[in-house]
Amino acid sequence: MRAFNFAAGPSTLPLEVLQEAQRDLLDFSGTGMSITEISHRNKAFSAVVEEGESLLRGLLNISDDYAVIFVQGGASTQFAAVPLNLMHHRKADYVVTGNFAKKAFEEGSIYGDAACVASSGDKTFTYIPDVKKIPFRKGTDYVHICSNNTIFGTRYAEFPETEAPLVADMSSEILSREIDVSKFGVIYAGAQKNLAPAGVTIVIAKRSLIGDPLEICPTMLKWKVQDKDKSLYNTPPCFPIYVATLVLRRLKALGGIKVMNEINEYKAGLLYDFIDNSPFYTNGVEKKYRSIMNVPFVTPSAELDDAFVKSAAKEGLVSLKGHRLVGGMRASIYNAMPVEGVKALIEFMKKFEKENA
Ligand SMILES: *Cc1c(COP(=O)(O)O)cnc(C)c1O
Repeated sequence: MRAFNFAAGPSTLPLEVLQEAQRDLLDFSGTGMSITEISHRNKAFSAVVEEGESLLRGLLNISDDYAVIFVQGGASTQFAAVPLNLMHHRKADYVVTGNFAKKAFEEGSIYGDAACVASSGDKTFTYIPDVKKIPFRKGTDYVHICSNNTIFGTRYAEFPETEAPLVADMSSEILSREIDVSKFGVIYAGAQKNLAPAGVTIVIAKRSLIGDPLEICPTMLKWKVQDKDKSLYNTPPCFPIYVATLVLRRLKALGGIKVMNEINEYKAGLLYDFIDNSPFYTNGVEKKYRSIMNVPFVTPSAELDDAFVKSAAKEGLVSLKGHRLVGGMRASIYNAMPVEGVKALIEFMKKFEKENA
């Protein structure tokens, strides 16, 4: 039996996608070769890359003003690629709302004058600073935010209006809610949360911004090179790109991001409502900023948290342990987590509360 996997990443994928990948593992598209064996220059594979790009463009309504590329190295490599492609005046603003936002800021500081212009660290990252009051500086090359904070379970309810191009790490929420791409200079996302196995990262970058990377930028990190070569500058992560394409096909068939977002709001709503009405479980995030992807919560004690994680796993509800920085539990309920998974979790929470309150 398949477990309900609440891992923060890599994370659960749709069963139908895994089954389709299983078939193609031996014979992809009548080539007599596995999807894992086929050359990335084979037409059958370049068709996959093209379809993936075109599905992303359709689902997120991305215009031709933007490059859409598949790259390697995870979101963490993009922490460096962002300054290396954009930091012409060596000056950028960062909003620090969690661990990954902080890492991005620290990486940016290697290349120039990176400033943390706002942070929610004063209250252990349980909120997002008011975007209208952030003192952005003049003359910066970009403003960097992390739109959904995977560890702390927060997300931006609205995005800042900035003079400099807005760059967003959307790793843990891409394709989960509708966003207006035209408001962003660059969006990037490691795929292993909402889209694919680990190994591929999506970059959506305004072409007018990426023509002139810093001289020291490694070729592999030049977005314009990846754009020109249609993500095939070198051997790309073929299998994750292929799975991403299957996931995107399925998302389109479901009705797109609007429908997906409604389902996600419904799932998260069930869980938050239950937590808010329970005297036993607590989620400390300011309601307005609660993530619909990552839901951290605690019981009244660390011992009970431990017991919760262990007994949930015995019932097929796995990977609920919170990140080591916050402890407690975290239910990551990405696009591929079925409603039944969330309902099963709530039933278990009720039972555990009854036995331990
Ligand atoms: C998981 C995650 C990362 C790190 O991604 P890697 O692909 O492991 O480098 C960065 N940012 C956010 C928001 C994440 O959730």
